[in-house]
Amino acid sequence: MPQDLIRPMTSDQADYLRDESRLIGQAEWIAFPETEQQLREILASCRRSGRPVTIQGARTGIAAAAVPAGGVVLSLTRLNRVRGMKQNADGRYVLCAESGVILSRLRKQIEDRHFAVSDWDEPSRQIFEQFRRDRTQIFTPDPTEATASLGGMVACNASGARSYRYGPVRRHIQGLRVILADGQTLDLQRGREKAAGRTLNLTTEQGGQLRIDLPTYALPQVKSAAGYYAADDMDAVDLFIGSDGTLGVVSQIELVLQPLPDQIWGVTCFFGEEEQAWQFTEQVRAAGETGLLALEYFDRQALALLARYKAGHPAFARLELPQRPFGAAIYCELQGEREDQLLEAVARLGRQMEHAGASPEDSWVARTAFDRDQLLFFRHAAPECVNLEIDRNRQREPSLTKLGTDMSVPNDKLP
Ligand SMILES: Cc1cc2nc3c(=O)[nH]c(=O)nc-3n(C[C@H](O)[C@H](O)[C@H](O)COP(=O)(O)OP(=O)(O)OC[C@H]3O[C@@H](n4cnc5c(N)ncnc54)[C@H](O)[C@@H]3O)c2cc1C
Repeated sequence: MPQDLIRPMTSDQADYLRDESRLIGQAEWIAFPETEQQLREILASCRRSGRPVTIQGARTGIAAAAVPAGGVVLSLTRLNRVRGMKQNADGRYVLCAESGVILSRLRKQIEDRHFAVSDWDEPSRQIFEQFRRDRTQIFTPDPTEATASLGGMVACNASGARSYRYGPVRRHIQGLRVILADGQTLDLQRGREKAAGRTLNLTTEQGGQLRIDLPTYALPQVKSAAGYYAADDMDAVDLFIGSDGTLGVVSQIELVLQPLPDQIWGVTCFFGEEEQAWQFTEQVRAAGETGLLALEYFDRQALALLARYKAGHPAFARLELPQRPFGAAIYCELQGEREDQLLEAVARLGRQMEHAGASPEDSWVARTAFDRDQLLFFRHAAPECVNLEIDRNRQREPSLTKLGTDMSVPNDKLP
């Protein structure tokens, strides 16, 4: 075993035994590769010695998938460089980033148009010069928790509120580098490595041949993160996206950027009754509002929890909440080129609120980045309060844990 790369866990590394599920695992060893070569050596060594490996990104996952059950913790936090930039056939900018890059840091770099380009190749630097002069770009996936790593987002096919418009991470990934359990590497590009029907033949960069019989099931036509992605003639990258690290370690990711819309507004609509919020949502969806990026639902209990934490917890004191209690809230995010377009869209939302029996007066409109930050804080606070609640209750019942998941129900099947 490479002693310098895989070290015994120490007591001050207890954080690496848990993720946001609050489940605590155990492990004997830990490794922090800084290069793909080190990652390959670590995996090959673990394979030889039969040690199980738990891959960790930023440990923000809420399904305990990064919690070790013995063996080696493989933390990718130090594999965190942005390696270059190119343009794809559609003229979109594509960033090549290592999997440990944190989403919030990447967003800031894109917004500031500032990357450490000294070790980028010449074509990357040329594209970067163009990127700096071009209109502002955005990496659209937004899994709420911006401290997530890119590798974790790919492994979970993360989605979040804006997937209403932009879809999950999968749609924004052009290529992946994957390290297999024996240390061999795959370099996969969307459109290049494809299955024939349900059979995928891949060649590793070391010359190894892989024949993969893909699952034969038909994927449901609703949002789904269950099981491996499988479709006739599918792209190989899609098998690894959403595979939760079970097929290999993603070391590098090519992510596709979009031009930032000129205006993004957030509108939070409050309803006395949950039924009104459901009716409003159905209407808004049916109307097909073209600029709608996100629709997110807060039920009565979530709003009550926020109110309780605002009153009793200094970290939530700046949380903006309505003066009186409501039964539900819907957060709508809108994009547009011009202010008048967005004003019209907000007016349409107001009419739909009235139609659902609520008052447009009970809505907040965030038009500036500062206002939107307030709304983001509101959205992020709900799961954060749940986590604090779990921590508090664990003092009474240490075995308590939290398993967060999404459910997807077609509209016509809702009661
Ligand atoms: C407050 C809060 C809100 C959230 N809201 C959302 C939401 O709206 N939508 C959503 O989708 N998620 C949400 N999440 C969950 C989480 O942020 C995302 O799933 C995120 O993508 C996980 O990234 P991570 O780097 O933290 O991964 P980790 O938690 O470290 O790992 C998650 C899984 O990915 C695997 N993995 C990590 N890196 C790699 C890699 N490089 N190669 C292969 N496998 C890897 C791990 O083994 C594990 O199975 C939320 C979390 C919190 C705390």
